[in-house]
Amino acid sequence: MKVLKFGGTSVGSPENMRAVMKIIADGEEKIVVLSAMSGTTNALVEISGLLWKKNRETASISIGQLEASYKKVVKKLFESEENRKKGQKIIKSAFNIIKSFTSGKFSQVGENTILAQGELISTQLFTLLMNENGYDCKLLPALEFMRIDEDKMADSNYIREHAEKVLQEVGPTTYYITQGYICRNASGEIDNLQRGGSDYTASLLGAAIDAEEIQIWTDIDGFHNNDPRYVENTKKIEQLSFNEAAELAYFGAKILHPQTVFPARVQNIPVRLKNTMNPADGGTLITAESSGTGIKAVAAKDGITAIKIRSDRMLMAYGFLKSVFRIFEKYRTPIDMISTSEVAVSLTIDKKDNLQKIKNDLDKFGTVEVDDNMTIICIVGDIIAEERGFASKVFNALDGIPIRMISYGGSRHNISVLVPNSHKKSTLQALSENLLSNGN
Ligand code: ADP
Ligand code: ASP
Ligand code: MG
Repeated sequence: MKVLKFGGTSVGSPENMRAVMKIIADGEEKIVVLSAMSGTTNALVEISGLLWKKNRETASISIGQLEASYKKVVKKLFESEENRKKGQKIIKSAFNIIKSFTSGKFSQVGENTILAQGELISTQLFTLLMNENGYDCKLLPALEFMRIDEDKMADSNYIREHAEKVLQEVGPTTYYITQGYICRNASGEIDNLQRGGSDYTASLLGAAIDAEEIQIWTDIDGFHNNDPRYVENTKKIEQLSFNEAAELAYFGAKILHPQTVFPARVQNIPVRLKNTMNPADGGTLITAESSGTGIKAVAAKDGITAIKIRSDRMLMAYGFLKSVFRIFEKYRTPIDMISTSEVAVSLTIDKKDNLQKIKNDLDKFGTVEVDDNMTIICIVGDIIAEERGFASKVFNALDGIPIRMISYGGSRHNISVLVPNSHKKSTLQALSENLLSNGN
């Protein structure tokens, strides 16, 4: 069985939902993971933000606007009066849940419950659409099998066990529809897999049921060799290895949630990226094999903080790095890049919740400098780090760009440079012009 995920734009209008129906309804049994309609999660995040600030009146106005837009969708989506009524009922009950949080004390559970409504609505409407058009289709409730543990990591064993159980309980059908992004946490409360998490749902579910293929359907024809939002004339990549795709997704390629590749790689399940607006195109295939050597693509990850610790105690001392790392471990903060000299160590983090506490602890070792608003630019390909003359090509391409850190040799697939965010676009463009366009 295949697992197909359709993103926000793919289900973003009644016309697009019908296009998705056409793509999936080929008679083959499959699981379809849907995101919320485009713009919905952003609106729900905004509403939650207003409720945190006790700005209930403005929140109620935004809720009303979002509800009105859904009422219009329902009118356009269904043919029969009976299904329009059913559709309006779905909308009403979801919005009653959202409105129930506009009084009383707002909480994290409240926010997570609000954020979940986007996917809960899109999947119910889509299932009704499929049924209205005569297709054998059932809803799989993601909240009954998607789970994260205390460290907010996906609980693969739980997902495997419960996905099978829920499939049995729901019973046979041709098309199973389920919600991306949403899950429960270790306490059983509603939670989510972070923004863009529907891709991750698809790969976790694909791995759990040992799917034959995981397909991520979106609004572009596949993985491009640079970020099309910042660079013109980017090109689609036909094939990527799991390792290359994982590096690009982790280092900011928005087309895939950063963790999507891992479950697929463990089970060796091919991942295919496809365009809902152009289904005939083969898209990008991600498998264990890489196709050819050299640079494949670059990506950028924003919101990075660089921390430099300068200490005379580091000189000739062993155990110094261990003491530094222990502080990051204590505050559960992952380190992305690292580079050391005799008396200083520089590293980067993107999780800033405990930055001040980390800084206070590091202050005991020496002088600590913190630089915010940095961007990691990641250059990915096969054996690029071993290719002779490769480093000089990268440095020539980046002539004139203020590079704050470099990571080279940590992986044969990746070279990363840290630049101020204000230089992100020019760095991506320089790499495109000098490394990607001439067949390198
Ligand atoms: P969805 O809502 O379907 O999940 P996303 O917006 O999350 O879609 O991801 C698709 C978008 O990712 C594209 O429209 C494109 O602007 C952006 N993107 C960023 N980097 C890349 C890349 N390297 N290749 C393709 N798309 C990319
Ligand atoms: N709807 C969620 C978001 O906008 C999840 C997703 O689309 O993947 O982040
Ligand atoms: Mg996405």
